[in-house]
Amino acid sequence: MNRKNLISLHGGHSGQYCNHAEDKLEDIIKKYIELGFKKVGITEHIPPVSDQFLYPDEIKNGLTASDINRKFEEYFKNIKNLKQKYASKIKIFAGMETETYSGYVEHIKKLILKFNPDYIVGSVHHINDVCFDYSKKSYDKIVLDYDSHDGMYEKYFDLQHEMIKELKPFIVAHFDLIRIYDKDYKNRLSMPKIRQKIMRNLELIKSLDLVMDLNLRPLARGEEEPYITASILKTAKKMGIRVVPGDDSHSIEQAGLNVDKAIQILESYGFETLQWPDPELL
Ligand SMILES: [Zn+2]
Ligand SMILES: [Zn+2]
Repeated sequence: MNRKNLISLHGGHSGQYCNHAEDKLEDIIKKYIELGFKKVGITEHIPPVSDQFLYPDEIKNGLTASDINRKFEEYFKNIKNLKQKYASKIKIFAGMETETYSGYVEHIKKLILKFNPDYIVGSVHHINDVCFDYSKKSYDKIVLDYDSHDGMYEKYFDLQHEMIKELKPFIVAHFDLIRIYDKDYKNRLSMPKIRQKIMRNLELIKSLDLVMDLNLRPLARGEEEPYITASILKTAKKMGIRVVPGDDSHSIEQAGLNVDKAIQILESYGFETLQWPDPELL
């Protein structure tokens, strides 16, 4: 049988360290081994810079930024141990997923110095300090602030550009996450002003030799295509940008889910899928 070269470089969030995930990190790693993964990147969310940026579920559970900071310390201790423990079976990369709220650049640079991750995953989940992907309600509120989806998309791609320039994340996560609650996203992503910003960001990714995440979360939710949408994926291929699957898993059940499908998609576009790039801190 022709076994696929399975990999995920974004995911492995676990209930141990992330309030909106489930299961123990070690059990998630065991699942990857069981599925035949030889390499995996674990990229826990960074702790918030202050209590202002706690997620609603964290607030509901009475957590503070310092609680989550403590958990994040434990995360790095644990992932470094698990890396050693399972070294003969799987190569684990210890990473972290970023944010873009006020103060993020300094905050993340400090975290990098403190924890020395193998690499970072660059994500934008906030616009003007409000998280837009957490719920449709929070998303729609930002649409209203900008009078339209268009303005919100433009701001998103501007923030993403700044984040990529500042942090040079080895993996640029869910490039078009801004489409999350927008049924008309395919049209919107091709509008000239938005398309221009997309091209600018892709050119920056290419010039820094970064890698894009083919993020499988939408497939797990039953949606038609992953982040990156087909039109952008096609452009990335043309530009020679590397793309690697990310399951964005938040439980044992989601670990490795749809990675075979992602590899099929990448193959159908002519992307390299036999040899994946090894993450590094840039
Ligand atoms: Zn998460
Ligand atoms: Zn994310």
